[in-house]
Amino acid sequence: MVPLETIIQQKQSGGILSNSNIQFIVDGYTSGAISDDEMTSWLNAVSQNGMSHEETLEYTKVMLNSGITLDFSHLNGFVLDKHSTGGVGDKVSIILAPLLASCGLYIPMLAGRGLGHTQGTIDKLEAIPAYKTVLSLTKFQQIVEKVGVSIMEQTEKICPADGKIYALRDVTNTVASFPLICGSIMSKKIAEGIQGLVLDIKMGNGAFMKTISEAKKLGKLLERVGELYGLKVSTVFTDMNQPLGTSAGLYCEIVESVECLKGNGPSDLMQVVYHLGQKALEIAGIENSEEKLKSNIKNGKALEKFEEMIIAHGGEIKMLGTPQLHKPKFRKEIFAKEDGFIGKMDTLQLGQAVVQLGGGRIQKNDKIDYSTGILFHKKIGDSVNKGESLMEIFCSDSERLKMGSKKVKGTIHIRGYKPKIYPLILA
Ligand code: URA
Repeated sequence: MVPLETIIQQKQSGGILSNSNIQFIVDGYTSGAISDDEMTSWLNAVSQNGMSHEETLEYTKVMLNSGITLDFSHLNGFVLDKHSTGGVGDKVSIILAPLLASCGLYIPMLAGRGLGHTQGTIDKLEAIPAYKTVLSLTKFQQIVEKVGVSIMEQTEKICPADGKIYALRDVTNTVASFPLICGSIMSKKIAEGIQGLVLDIKMGNGAFMKTISEAKKLGKLLERVGELYGLKVSTVFTDMNQPLGTSAGLYCEIVESVECLKGNGPSDLMQVVYHLGQKALEIAGIENSEEKLKSNIKNGKALEKFEEMIIAHGGEIKMLGTPQLHKPKFRKEIFAKEDGFIGKMDTLQLGQAVVQLGGGRIQKNDKIDYSTGILFHKKIGDSVNKGESLMEIFCSDSERLKMGSKKVKGTIHIRGYKPKIYPLILA
């Protein structure tokens, strides 16, 4: 066997790793034989030097084979999932998964925790009292079958390698790497035993992909890997040059999601929800998709599904979406210093501010503060008067509020003219 040091050095000098060396690294870290420091060196080397197409395929396969693959072929319906490459205020999965289930699809969703400056679906769902994000696979399958939707974290049985590597990437600045993103997303999705996948590739200053050409390259890679495993894949590219919706954080995103499911969602967020929803229903061969999605928001069926899923996960719905839960101890408003229009938002920095406020992890085992978040009162193109509130930041630790308020300084740029507004759905 080639020594670990040699494998790391090989990648550091831009070499191509053999299948057995990729397997050795992934299995070694999953079992605990390879330390966090050693794995970080390897992840850094991959982030800097990339992987060939063959290496990426092998990495994805090894991640997938670190656990088992589920089988939903006995279900009488289309089994699909949606996944986003990550952004700020991106709570689409929480709204779309129950909405699609209310339209008759089966959604077994394995989601992630916060990654880098982005907040994860699992961390957000854990803000719901007693909601269990780790279930046995039998229970997960039962919920999918009975309710139509279940969202949980990967377990020791499904993609355990991603569970461990994802947590390490989160705190080692090794997130924005094509092969690492591909292995992470596609191993989880393929392991779900789905037939169709809708991918939301985020592009912009708050996404891991900064340009549309990078986003398209990643989209193609994910699509090819998915199709290789027999999935029907639909890829959508959406703008992440400002947070999606009106909030970014933990419990505040649950509140906004519930409002969306009640039909009171902000238009940008609902545009993405409906667009991805249409793509999902099209893959599943369901007609009149837009009408179906909109009517299931209006008639309350999507919200009912969400509540059913929460109950099935042991969660409590009595106070769901109310301001009494996770009430932040500290709040601070940020005011406009001049008149004008919102021209630009530093979305990456806003996401990092949420992490500083306590909504993400700086160290691997950091505790999350569910009361953390930012409410955005203005979005790009809005007019603003001097002294008007631009946003409100909040959390339950006064030191962290200070750190967060330093971080949000200068993130919203005011200009003297109305900026050009770019489309939210890019392709
Ligand atoms: N989502 C994932 O599950 N993994 C990544 O690496 C990025 C987004």
